[in-house]
Amino acid sequence: MSAANEMTSPSEAPCYAFHDYRKERPPVEGWYVWRLPHKFIEGVTLIFLAKYRERGAGFESVLSPEFDHWNGYQVLLPKGCIEWAEFDGAPPMDGHELLEVEGVENVDCPFCGATPKWRYDGRYFGSGPADADSYRLECCQWANAVRMKSPVALAEKRNALLCA
Ligand SMILES: [Zn+2]
Repeated sequence: MSAANEMTSPSEAPCYAFHDYRKERPPVEGWYVWRLPHKFIEGVTLIFLAKYRERGAGFESVLSPEFDHWNGYQVLLPKGCIEWAEFDGAPPMDGHELLEVEGVENVDCPFCGATPKWRYDGRYFGSGPADADSYRLECCQWANAVRMKSPVALAEKRNALLCA
C-alpha cells in the first residue's frame, strides 16, 4: 500500500478477502474480484471483476487472468501487486465490471438518488479497467456526460460539485 492509499480508507466499501496472486492462485476457472494498480496511471488502484480462464500460451494452455498479455513467448501480467478474492455474485453483464477505485467514494446522484456505476473506455478492443484511458460515472441521463482520464480526479471533481 502506498502512503496515498493509507490516508483514505472508504468505510462503507465491501470487504474482500484478497490473496496475493504471486503466492496463491485462484482454485478454479471463473469470475474473481481483482485488485491491482492501473497499468499506466500512477497511484490509481482498481477493484474489478475479471475471469480467470484458460488461454493459449504457445504449445500449451495455462490458467491466467483476462488482463494478462501474451507477447508470443510468455504470459505477462501487469506490474505491481495483483490480488484476487472470491466472487459469489452473478457474472457481470458487460465484461470486466469496475467495482471500485480504491480510496474513492462516490456521492449519490442528486437527480435519481442512485450511486453511479463506473464506466470506462480503452484504446484497444478488449481493454479492461486497468488499461482504460477514460472513465465516466453513470447513473441517469442527467448526470453521466463527463469523461476524464483519471478516475480519481473524476470522482473528486464530481463529489466536490455535488457537495458544494
Ligand atoms: Zn442520476
